Amino acid sequence: MDRAVAAARRAFEDGRWRDMPPAGRKKVLHKIADLIEQYAVELTVLGVRDNGTEFNMALKAEAGSAAGTFRYYAEALDKIYGEVAPTAPDVLGLVHHAPVGVVGAIVPWNFPLMIGAWKLAPALAMGNSVVLKPAETASLSLLKLAGICAEAGLPDGVLNVVTGQGAVAGEALALSYDVDALVFTGSGGVGRRLLEYSARSNLKRVYLELGGKSPNIVFADAPDLAKAAKVSAMGIFRNSGQVCVAGSRLLVERAVHDEFVALMAAEAEKLKVGDPLDLETQIGAVNSIPQLEGNLGFVEKALAEGAEAVTGGGRILQETGGYYMAPTILTGVERGHNVFQNEVFGPVLSVTAFDSDDEAVGLANATDYGLSAGVWTSNLSRAHRMVHGIRAGIVHVNTYGGSDNTVPLGGVKQSGNGHDKSLHAIEKYVDLKTAWIQL
Ligand code: NAD
Repeated sequence: MDRAVAAARRAFEDGRWRDMPPAGRKKVLHKIADLIEQYAVELTVLGVRDNGTEFNMALKAEAGSAAGTFRYYAEALDKIYGEVAPTAPDVLGLVHHAPVGVVGAIVPWNFPLMIGAWKLAPALAMGNSVVLKPAETASLSLLKLAGICAEAGLPDGVLNVVTGQGAVAGEALALSYDVDALVFTGSGGVGRRLLEYSARSNLKRVYLELGGKSPNIVFADAPDLAKAAKVSAMGIFRNSGQVCVAGSRLLVERAVHDEFVALMAAEAEKLKVGDPLDLETQIGAVNSIPQLEGNLGFVEKALAEGAEAVTGGGRILQETGGYYMAPTILTGVERGHNVFQNEVFGPVLSVTAFDSDDEAVGLANATDYGLSAGVWTSNLSRAHRMVHGIRAGIVHVNTYGGSDNTVPLGGVKQSGNGHDKSLHAIEKYVDLKTAWIQL
């Protein structure tokens, strides 16, 4: 890790990348996107064999999304101007956007390529060098991406991918005095440590994209309950629920509670869980045995606290021997229950009934998290009131889980700070530098 950081520092200081004219950097980033598309199947298979995500979704969400992200920031990089300050006429005040230097990026295993690209593309676009540490259980597609970047003409030393244990390689990166900013996606526990490492070393800036316990609120006047159930089922169960924005708390108006739970259970039971490389599979494998055991532990505790499993609840054994879990729906979950408050990061949906708009907002906001939310209603005023009242980085209305590169993704409360995606992400990768020139 020390050698990688030193290489990134040298590459930054000698200007081989940051001083390349914007048109040159743009060309390299576009070429990276082209090559990601060219190697999309290989990248996706590597990733799926590592982390168990269903191939069909991964092809789009990993390689497809990563190529789009590189293109977005390639296009953006030469359209970002500095400022001329409104000073007195004998002074020229200029505000430049300078690259921050060496960026350390630490990413999780659930969508390594997509999340890796969310950090890499804007960091590289703005002229920084990067050292990236993938998760222990999902590094192959990011190692392949490093090769792609070299093939595309990114100068040596500008991107360094170093695998290893979080507590060893990740800690070394986060404690380095030569890293200027740390961008992270992962759990709150590790996020807290990164803030400590920063305080113990060089006060590097730390941007955290953390977990969620996102409410998906269904009102009795939802335009189409059957469609809401179909979309909400994928909103929690795709990638075996290992999605930061998963709609893992269903809050449903009491008048339609039983009907909607039945629709959701039917959707859950229809999903084909199995071999992630099988093109018919809709839900792949859980990432690792500790993750599966954790999921089952959440279910066990929820049942002990009084919830009821209307479908799923256990492991599915398959010939491939992978760690498959049945999409699980738990009803009767209350605000004080463990599964209401804590992120499972598995295919487990908790259901809580409510009677009024105020109660729905109160329940939505009753956890430490604030990443994502969904609202299903045909009442426009209610939809806006909900968007206003729910504390979350994104509120979906009459859908769940959609977004693209044009809008930021980030959390409030203990879901983190800073944003990935959109032009706002660029703020993490630039320093504002003022030139005050006496004329
Ligand atoms: P994790 O926090 O266990 O690991 C994330 C990364 O941190 C890995 O690369 C790991 O090796 C590294 N790490 C672990 N200990 C470290 C240490 N002491 N020092 C430095 N690095 C260390 O998270 P995970 O299990 O890989 O991912 C799941 C979590 O990520 C969930 O909480 C999920 O909600 C969150 N997530 C958030 C978003 C978002 O955009 N907000 C997106 C995806 C996942």
